[in-house]
Amino acid sequence: MTRPPFLSGTIWPLHPRPLPDELLSSWMARIARAYFARPHSFWHPLAGISQFRALDEKISPRLLDVLHRGTGIQPGQIRAMTLGSFAGFGLLRNGNHPVIAFCPECLKDPVPFYRRTWCLEFVTVCAIHHADLQESCPACGALIRFEQAGINLSMAACHNCGCDLAAVAASAHQPSDPLAAVLLHQNYLARQIGLLQP
Ligand SMILES: [Zn+2]
Ligand SMILES: [Zn+2]
Repeated sequence: MTRPPFLSGTIWPLHPRPLPDELLSSWMARIARAYFARPHSFWHPLAGISQFRALDEKISPRLLDVLHRGTGIQPGQIRAMTLGSFAGFGLLRNGNHPVIAFCPECLKDPVPFYRRTWCLEFVTVCAIHHADLQESCPACGALIRFEQAGINLSMAACHNCGCDLAAVAASAHQPSDPLAAVLLHQNYLARQIGLLQP
């Protein structure tokens, strides 16, 4: 039996590059979408992934190998897109469920994607837009699960109700808010865990 081209060990024809601070699962969802496939149906046969939402915290050697061979991205760079080094250090949770917060303004990018820093408990404000990060869909209350969204929906849409998360009014801080203090604290903690250079 001939193997499909993307299983042959060569670089896949379509492999969007990782974007700055992109979360591993966000990049993998964008790769699957390049083939008009849902992330789970795309990655399960390739790398035996059963729990897509868990892979950001623990990447298997098999998945690392598949990603490296398929995209040419170095294993160290792929590992740096995970939350592995932050496990146990303030990842956002709702009960046992991982939370991915978002900045509506950042999701307005022409290629919407989800940032690694949005999974950290202490990051509550977007450092670029000074908007509060949202932890769920404001229309239906669902947690953000972009990997479950139909591929006819944008990566910036709620998988549950289809709400355009990029169109959510951002609650920007007013000049009187202690924004500078919040950002100072965020940046301090980010430096402590190696996210920012001292
Ligand atoms: Zn932003
Ligand atoms: Zn929703």
